Amino acid sequence: MNKKAFQDALAYVQSQLGKEYPIIIGGQEITTEEKITSINPANKEEIIGRVSMADQELAEKAMQAALTAFESWKKWRPEHRANILFRAAAMLRRRKHEFSAYLVKEAGKPWKEADADTSEAIDFLEFYARQMLRIKDGFPVNSRDGEYNQYHYIPLGVGIIISPFNFPLAIMAGTTVAAIVTGNTVLLKPANSTPVVAAKFVELIKEAGLPDGVLNFVPGSGSKIGDYLVDHPKTRFISFTGSREVGCRINERAAKINPGQIWIKRVIAEMGGKDTVVVDKDADLDLAAASIVYSAFGFSGQKCSAGSRAVVHQDVYDEVLEKAVALTKTLTVGNPEDADTYMGPVIDEKAFNKIMSYIEIGKQEGRLMTGGEGDDSKGYFIQPTIFADVDEKARIMQEEIFGPVLAFCKARDFDHMMEIANNTEYGLTGALISNNREHIEHAREEFHVGNLYFNRGCTGAIVGYQPFGGFNMSGTDSKAGGPDYLLLHMQAKTTSEML
Ligand code: NAD
Repeated sequence: MNKKAFQDALAYVQSQLGKEYPIIIGGQEITTEEKITSINPANKEEIIGRVSMADQELAEKAMQAALTAFESWKKWRPEHRANILFRAAAMLRRRKHEFSAYLVKEAGKPWKEADADTSEAIDFLEFYARQMLRIKDGFPVNSRDGEYNQYHYIPLGVGIIISPFNFPLAIMAGTTVAAIVTGNTVLLKPANSTPVVAAKFVELIKEAGLPDGVLNFVPGSGSKIGDYLVDHPKTRFISFTGSREVGCRINERAAKINPGQIWIKRVIAEMGGKDTVVVDKDADLDLAAASIVYSAFGFSGQKCSAGSRAVVHQDVYDEVLEKAVALTKTLTVGNPEDADTYMGPVIDEKAFNKIMSYIEIGKQEGRLMTGGEGDDSKGYFIQPTIFADVDEKARIMQEEIFGPVLAFCKARDFDHMMEIANNTEYGLTGALISNNREHIEHAREEFHVGNLYFNRGCTGAIVGYQPFGGFNMSGTDSKAGGPDYLLLHMQAKTTSEML
């Protein structure tokens, strides 16, 4: 039944292709000459939609609309703000397959990955709405005799939300609604390869009752309007998810105080990863191989949590490698619209070229076991690729490739495994496959990543279950889907009254 419903949704979305989507500022739809053309990465000829692009003038207009809306939105009761999220969650749940079908078409996500992305967006809406209800009255503080003290949270102001292509619905929606439900108003700049699904979400949340000006939709060039908005003196905070390069740039620019600015901007920056699955000598080796392979190749390795490094104890190295290669050879690569495709394309030409160049580097740095080939004649397809016997300091062990490329590295003993696992500048996710209790407890302390998993893969964090965010160059360790995430979008106010 679900299969039929999903196919119907794909057919419906097919009938919607090529439409135009406006910028939305203060509830007003604005169409510009310059547009982002969003294409299907599995079929370059197919246009998903054309989305108007904001320039600096429109970005400024959006900032003014958000500043105006903030004055009333911040006074809305938290329950009423949360209700809009609950309504949006219900509406998205009803239209789940339609949104997933957009993800298949625009991001090249296979069904399962698209479904997970939409489900996560629904979870974020529900979770942040409930969290808002929990924190709305602040936290208790003590009062001495003759005194009445209170401690509660107020919104910050106007936030800039900048989202990546790889969870074009979940991360875009999650970061946006966390900022909104806490009483801020925002400018949303979606990723340029996936603006249509963002436009559809903006339509949906408006239907759910969000007042004009609270969410302003400003697709555009990252460097042109991105820099402008990051630098803007009225920007109160920036919630960014994307690459390390852009995240660091934003952090640096945001630190500068510009004329007219009366606060220090807050930056939430969730960035890249170089995540490791570690396999102990005493481990279930089938589980190890499956954990490695599915963590490396889910959504073509384009997850910040992707396990692009396998670090395996020398005693079981050959066996795990052999099992992983055999399993990888069973993965189907093809059109994500087909229900049984495991891996679709990578997102665009730039990503394709970057990943293929890393495959060339990999050929120098390791032994090619499977894959290694790409085909960009129709879409941007790359075979799942494994390199064996890679040195722990090699580039493909250190740099984020963001594609279906996995490096195997042999370790001498458990301490060596931990050393290799921690030898990147990132610190997002990691997994240890082991039946050794002492090693598990040791890794719990020593393995320095924001999300550490035992006896499973290192992708697939669930909102409210595994709050998600990383250490070091993976970002500011804001834990999306965690109990304290909303507080990052607020400031605490203490009041003390003498009785
Ligand atoms: P990206 O950095 O290329 O782009 C992210 C966003 O930043 C886009 O909207 C882009 O237009 C915008 N941008 C570009 N230049 C800008 C500028 N100068 N100022 C402001 N904004 C600018 O990243 P991507 O390719 O879309 O996403 C992949 C990256 O995101 C990977 O590195 C991945 O690890 C990371 N990621 C991290 C997390 C996490 O939670 N840590 C989650 C998802 C993705």
